[in-house]
Amino acid sequence: MEFSVAMSETLENNLLEFLLKDKTEEEACFVLWYPAKGSKRFNVLLKEMILPSEDERVKHGNISILPNFFDRAKEYVRSKRGGLALIHTHPLSVGWQDLSGPDLHYERDVMAQEVFGVTGLPLVGLTLSGNQAWSARIYRRRAKKRPVLSWCISVRVVGKQLKTYYNPKLKPKQCPSDEMLRTTSVWGDDIQSDLMRMRVGIIGAGSVGSAVVEILSRMGIGEIYVMDYDKVEIHNLDRLVSAKQSDAKYSRSKSKIACRNAYKAKTNPDFRCKPHVLSIVEEDGYRVALNCDVLFSCVDRPWPRQVLNHISYASLIPVINGGVSFKTDHGRLIHGVFRAETVGPERVCMNCLGSYDAGEIQLDREGKLDDPQYISELKKTGQEPSRQNIMPFSISLAGLESIQFVELVTRIGRKGDLGQQTYDYYSGEILPVYKECHPECEYSKTVAEGDANMPYLADDPHIDK
Ligand SMILES: [Zn+2]
Ligand SMILES: [Zn+2]
Repeated sequence: MEFSVAMSETLENNLLEFLLKDKTEEEACFVLWYPAKGSKRFNVLLKEMILPSEDERVKHGNISILPNFFDRAKEYVRSKRGGLALIHTHPLSVGWQDLSGPDLHYERDVMAQEVFGVTGLPLVGLTLSGNQAWSARIYRRRAKKRPVLSWCISVRVVGKQLKTYYNPKLKPKQCPSDEMLRTTSVWGDDIQSDLMRMRVGIIGAGSVGSAVVEILSRMGIGEIYVMDYDKVEIHNLDRLVSAKQSDAKYSRSKSKIACRNAYKAKTNPDFRCKPHVLSIVEEDGYRVALNCDVLFSCVDRPWPRQVLNHISYASLIPVINGGVSFKTDHGRLIHGVFRAETVGPERVCMNCLGSYDAGEIQLDREGKLDDPQYISELKKTGQEPSRQNIMPFSISLAGLESIQFVELVTRIGRKGDLGQQTYDYYSGEILPVYKECHPECEYSKTVAEGDANMPYLADDPHIDK
């Protein structure tokens, strides 16, 4: 199991303001966190800081937490059914921090066992260095033995930008390869090294997803998951990147076809691509998605979009979503539009953007959108969903989604958020729209709640598992 910590940009800003106010002395505070358990990565999602009052800690160059502060923090996170994390600073150091003997003793031998007892969750320790770099570890329970220290592979800060602090021992810095020369010359070795260690999930391996896989493999991304339970059919061949006649003939899996192509396109020597013949609306697929740093929503249904929208806030994994709406009548274009946006903390959600029709989610859950009888009834009233699409649209959308990804992870445009970008065939323009979530939006309120606030899935995790 890997361990990774994530927090929103807002929480990070608040933590930095308190913890690094006076860089001449160490400082400390507690944080409430919630778990989000991926199939191979356990995510610690920092939710809310718990600050000490003057009589709850002693500063003497180093910092000492007094028992009354520890007791108050434990009680608070227990009442919130979450876990406890302790953060302290090393204001004179830079980069990922190792543990000193006294730090290890205090976290593992003094606090961890007690935190288990009160919260049922492992203690998490974080260190913040003077140059604002995070490092993190977790203390796992062992029966009748003292807790064992496991280092996290990364600390991620999610907002307008995705910033990742990698553990240099578990995820060492990567050297860009010669194939990446032109790409690296745009944003430099450090950012390219981050991309080379990133795990990105492409949900949906149809015409858009298969093209995104090709783009990311060439850009040098470290690891790609491709999730799709569908098989290649003959009518996919006019749009599906790298698919062959024989793939349709033998009904090969779309996710496996996309991975086969990714290995041909890769520029990263350590590249890995894993196909997942799963659905994001089932718990197995949902847990696989929680292993990723960024997700692409290349699905064409409202329910999977809603699940991905939920994940982006509740589990702090930014989601880049795209959609196509294309309709002709007797060879004449009625409308042709595609749009892309990035959702997650500090951004407007898909529901408030109208990226899916919330009214159709229940129809999707009931299987009505696949029901020929239901579709034929819609046809009579002219409301049937258009399945029309052309490869120039899917490739352009894959490009636009990838540009959203580039700005999220590199911030070369100095914006982080490019807004919702919509291309209209007739006007030919792509003008960004910036909005905020509705004050009552249920998604923006779930930030960092993880498994404490699961989306509606096809299988009920409380009963089926
Ligand atoms: Zn220390
Ligand atoms: Zn919203």
